[in-house]
Amino acid sequence: MADRRNEPVAVIGLGRFGVALALELVKHGTEVLAVDNDPQEAQRLSGQLPHVVAADATDLEALTQLGINEFGRAVVAIGADIEASILVTSMLAEIGVPDIWAKAQTAQHATILARVGAHHVVTPEHDMGERIAHLLSGHLLDYIEVDDNYAMAKTFPPHDVAGVPLRDSKVRSRYGVTVVGVKSHAPPPGQLSEFTHASGDTVLMSGDVILVVGKVAAVERFAAAD
Ligand code: ATP
Ligand code: ATP
Ligand code: CA
Repeated sequence: MADRRNEPVAVIGLGRFGVALALELVKHGTEVLAVDNDPQEAQRLSGQLPHVVAADATDLEALTQLGINEFGRAVVAIGADIEASILVTSMLAEIGVPDIWAKAQTAQHATILARVGAHHVVTPEHDMGERIAHLLSGHLLDYIEVDDNYAMAKTFPPHDVAGVPLRDSKVRSRYGVTVVGVKSHAPPPGQLSEFTHASGDTVLMSGDVILVVGKVAAVERFAAAD
């Protein structure tokens, strides 16, 4: 796969999602062409983003004039207007943009975007809703599902694994999770409290904050254990 990490990105649709995305890319040194069909919106953002253009992205001629065909990467961040989102995505695919990301509102929308040529489809509202549901369980400080049924969570260790090295508490074999990082609640004097790698020798103390990875059910069960 071609390495496009430093290539410019075209961001189409400057709602909250598109703007946050564009600003973050610019902050990290990526060149961004930001497009929105609302001239007032484009004008408002011109102080924050170096290249903002007011154009209707469903207009193939307008897209071509912007040189979108030269871009290695594009994100379709149009939301409510599902028809426009699909049309723009399919045009980008037809033009031959090699790495197209698109934001979907619903599962059906996601399916269509993939069919018309999006290489990556994201569903931020849906994913965030799921994530908050896991956080609401009360045992998790942070949670991310990194793949279907595989998750990383920030949580506290149950009492039965505290006080002995991970090797002896057999966390992995008993709970099906691996502890990857620990942040001590009581670091040695003069040391910062920050995350460090865990190994078989690591001794967890209750009150430490830990990072664990494993299957979703295993991570949930581990975090819910006292
Ligand atoms: P968010 O949740 O990110 O705020 P949203 O899902 O509510 O966004 P919209 O606000 O509907 O999505 O769309 C995002 C932006 O896309 C809007 O600023 C809108 O003007 C822009 N947009 C809509 N249609 C087009 C189009 N054809 N070409 C370019 N931009 C468009
Ligand atoms: P295994 O092949 O069973 O995973 P291992 O070869 O990694 O074990 P050790 O490192 O000696 O063997 O660890 C023994 C047991 O201690 C593991 O089976 C596991 O239950 C637990 N353990 C060790 N390190 C971790 C860790 N970082 N997180 C969770 N459990 C661990
Ligand atoms: Ca929205």
